[in-house]
This record gives sequence, structure tokens and C-alpha cells, in this order.
Amino acid sequence: MPTEAITALVLIVVLVLGVNIIARRYGYDVGGIAVVQCRRGHLFTTIWIAGASFKSVRLGWVRLQRCPVGHHWSLVTLLKEADLTDEQRRLAAEHRDGPIP
Ligand SMILES: [Zn+2]
Repeated sequence: MPTEAITALVLIVVLVLGVNIIARRYGYDVGGIAVVQCRRGHLFTTIWIAGASFKSVRLGWVRLQRCPVGHHWSLVTLLKEADLTDEQRRLAAEHRDGPIP
């Protein structure tokens, strides 16, 4: 592998790790199962790894993905675990999307 490719790869890894560490500091549950909300207000859980996603378009704490509740595409926002009510947690846990981040 050429040196530039290795350098680029290292930079990407450092960037992904950095974003995840920062997100954790701010209280977001990243790098695992996270509770998200779509534009229509549906709550569901999804695998959220900051900086690494294969089936959605990321825009910071917002990303475009398919909502498993309303079966539509929507911008979804990451919710802070600590801000959720028990009812919201229960609703989100009932709807989980696929295992692919
Ligand atoms: Zn929805």
C-alpha cells in the first residue's frame, strides 16, 4: 500500500475515534445502540457509530435514514439518553432497525 493511503487511513481512524470521544463527553450514547427521533416524531433505536455509517447520510447529530416506525425516509436526530422519559425509552425499544450501522 502506498504511504499516502496508509496516512489517509490513519487520519480517518483518528477522526472517527475523536468524534466518538467528543460525543461521549457531551452525553451522547454513541458507538452502540442509540435512541433517535425522526422528523415525524417517531422514536426508535438504531446502531449509531459517529463517523461510521453504511446505510445513512450523516450530517453531524442528524442523519438521513429509513424510519422503521412510519416506514419512510427521514432526517433523524440523536437523543440524549439522560433526557428520555421511561415512556420514550419503552417506545424506542419497541422499534429497532437493522443490525447494520
Ligand atoms: Zn418516522
